Amino acid sequence: MSRIGFIGLGMMGRPMAHLLHAAGHSLVVQDVNREAATGFAAEHDSTQVATSGQDFADCDAVITMLPNSDIVDAVVQGLRLRPGACMIEMSSADPNRTRALAARLQQQGVALIDAPVSGGVKKAVAGTLAIMVGGDEQVFAQQKPLLEVLGKAISHVGPVGAGHALKALNNYVSAAALLATAEAVHVGAAFGIDAATIVDVINASTGKNNTTENKAHQFMLNGAFNSGFSLALQAKDVGIAAALGTSVNLPMALAQKVHAMTADASQALGPAADHTELYKFVGRA
Ligand code: NAD
Repeated sequence: MSRIGFIGLGMMGRPMAHLLHAAGHSLVVQDVNREAATGFAAEHDSTQVATSGQDFADCDAVITMLPNSDIVDAVVQGLRLRPGACMIEMSSADPNRTRALAARLQQQGVALIDAPVSGGVKKAVAGTLAIMVGGDEQVFAQQKPLLEVLGKAISHVGPVGAGHALKALNNYVSAAALLATAEAVHVGAAFGIDAATIVDVINASTGKNNTTENKAHQFMLNGAFNSGFSLALQAKDVGIAAALGTSVNLPMALAQKVHAMTADASQALGPAADHTELYKFVGRA
């Protein structure tokens, strides 16, 4: 069993770290919210709460599950990692910045793979996340058993940064479908069709998508708005996708529009808003 560093014990990171502990790995944990780390250690025996970056020096691998690239870069800069260790960057982050980070770590003899996830809190708890990995194939093969504790569909998708690129593109497609669904439901309802009927009929028709199948009834029409994925994180992901298009000289007109809508909604609804609250925001507009 390995010694694993785990940084970022939020909605996703906590259940992921729990599964690694249950699989027998020894953990060193860190979170800027100290209670998240001490609370986790209290419930998971022989877990160490890191008090400095030095505490990760004996880790075989360090996993980050953090909000964005700014935070990942700042956190990694403070870590003391041993040559031969592997950084597994599982946040949803900017692929170009991930490449730059991997190059910096390589100079210290530390390999980085980016391994962002899809599936949300439910699949994080179940250990059935989809994981898309960018990086050296040999490093990926070495780390795959660890990733298999956390996910089911684990794909190597290209060189470093490719996982983060694909994750941002996926979340852009998902956000576009969510906004389209929200508009369709509100307009149909204003025309006099029952909202639940609209979702059910789309689910039996060609407009079916992840929002109509797994979010509309579960988090939107019932007013729950508690999927566990924040609107701020969704807006960040769509912004990454739009910037990626620009970086390869293929500006994405629709992604820019979706980013503007999600960012405006996030600003209006505040940092605590769940991404499913876009449904409310579209209705209000
Ligand atoms: P979250 O906000 O619940 O958790 C982030 C954690 O990072 C928090 O515990 C926070 O205290 C900690 N943190 C922030 N700054 C830190 C720092 N400087 N040092 C140490 N810890 C710090 O977010 P989440 O929903 O768990 O998402 C984490 C990542 O996973 C994000 O990149 C997100 O886009 C991605 N993601 C989320 C979901 C989801 O459904 N929630 C799904 C797939 C991917």
